[in-house]
Amino acid sequence: MAVEGAPVITHWVDGKPWRGASARTADVTNPATGAVTGQVALASAADVDTAVRSARAAADEWRSVSLSRRARVLFSLRELLERNKEALAQRITAEHGKVLADAMGEVARGIEVVEYACGIPQLLAGNHSEQVSTDTDVYSIRQPIGVVAGITPFNFPAMVPMWMFPIAIACGNAFVLKPSERDPSAAMLVAELWAEAGLPDGVFSVVHGDREAVAALLAHPDVGAVSFVGSTPIARYVYETAAQHGKRVQALGGAKNHMVVLPDADLDIAADAAVSAGFGSAGERCMAISVVVAVDPIGDELVARIVERIAKLRIADGTDPDADMGPLVTRAHRDRVAGLVDDGVAAGASLVVDGREQVVADRPDGFWLGPCLFDHVRPEMSIYREEIFGPVLSVVRAGTYDDALALVNASPYGNGVAIFTRDGGAARRFQFEVEAGMVGINIPIPVPMAYYSFGGWGDSLFGDTHVHGAEGVRFYTRGKVVTSRFADPATRGPDLGFPQNR
Ligand code: NAD
Repeated sequence: MAVEGAPVITHWVDGKPWRGASARTADVTNPATGAVTGQVALASAADVDTAVRSARAAADEWRSVSLSRRARVLFSLRELLERNKEALAQRITAEHGKVLADAMGEVARGIEVVEYACGIPQLLAGNHSEQVSTDTDVYSIRQPIGVVAGITPFNFPAMVPMWMFPIAIACGNAFVLKPSERDPSAAMLVAELWAEAGLPDGVFSVVHGDREAVAALLAHPDVGAVSFVGSTPIARYVYETAAQHGKRVQALGGAKNHMVVLPDADLDIAADAAVSAGFGSAGERCMAISVVVAVDPIGDELVARIVERIAKLRIADGTDPDADMGPLVTRAHRDRVAGLVDDGVAAGASLVVDGREQVVADRPDGFWLGPCLFDHVRPEMSIYREEIFGPVLSVVRAGTYDDALALVNASPYGNGVAIFTRDGGAARRFQFEVEAGMVGINIPIPVPMAYYSFGGWGDSLFGDTHVHGAEGVRFYTRGKVVTSRFADPATRGPDLGFPQNR
């Protein structure tokens, strides 16, 4: 429904803003004020087709552009992102709600992937074996797929797309981004910067939309690969549907990350980590710590130190430089999270800190929920089982290291996990035994650097490649192996036997 005066956020196709044929739009809100600040265009299947056709034509040209020229465009993009990082962060805060410093951190981590992709000439180097048989050489090359799509979540509107498109484009593909319709504006600034960096029209496109646009991308015959990041049910649907249409797909899903605190840990460091990772970005991070597993006998002491720290957090509009935590992304999401807190209380968990009545005086209509801390949570409770994706931290008590490990490994998710201990042997054992894709040792949010790959296990990832790093290069390219011979004329003549190496 259109709101008078709210600007329309258009798609970006063929190197320029494009309204599309569909008249459908969705409200974009500022979560701190509750005000509708824009209307995002929602693409129809026909709009998606227009964007993919433009990308298809551009991909055919872009794959012929030399690696050095591609790298130069990426270097330019890197400089432009660096110069515009505050503007990008402001767009994120205005539509997502996270505090500005956090939004700046997200942009910085995204830029690191662009920096990694600047090394594409070296990253695409293949192997060459000379003289595998008489006068015969073998070499491997990796070639782009063509058009690849990225479908991304609301919680990192700049960084998560940047996990994908710098590498996809550096590899010679055209990239169609379908960002979250809840915070679509960051993607538009990135599109402008790509154009300014000299990327040919059509190599990077943005199509806004909801399930209709996603379904059209998953079925489109010209989309060769799909990268998805979002919740587990949608990740599973994207994985299955894209695979049915013959595409390669990586679909990263939700999470329920545990932080195990052993009795020998530095409890101040552990409490700092639990509060930072539990309530940073209002818990709306796929790597947020959702469950602290306190191994006997330190539970009471650890909870007391977490409570002390929560009391000092300042909840405010993310543009306030003193804010530690902003609002949740939408009113519906805020109410869902508050409902899960109600369920936890009803199930008998002890609500040590209750943020449900959080008020921010100068922002009465924002989507506020203060930090909530539960103790004595048990695995059968919904607050333990469900991904809450809000500022709700649960403490589970465990008798021993083995009990803690068994609890973590019984989770259907396997995104990130952390252990806090001073015992190197225990940490090493945990790293060996735990079932998760990313492990932190005295680090609560172990997000891998751009030159390593990011991804979880279990219901946190469908598909076999993680994003960025070497696995990203592999995902966005197809292998080809060439066997080549320029034979001595003296050896000419037919040979009907199966080729053997001589
Ligand atoms: P979401 O699954 O609701 O949406 C993700 C994308 O899918 C969006 O672009 C959205 O428009 C689209 N979508 C939503 N519903 C759809 C449907 N029915 N059919 C087709 N497409 C649909 O996720 P979200 O709420 O935007 O983001 C939060 C979720 O993302 C959390 O579960 C979080 O754990 C997860 N996440 C995971 C990672 C990771 O690396 N594993 C990273 C960030 C976020």
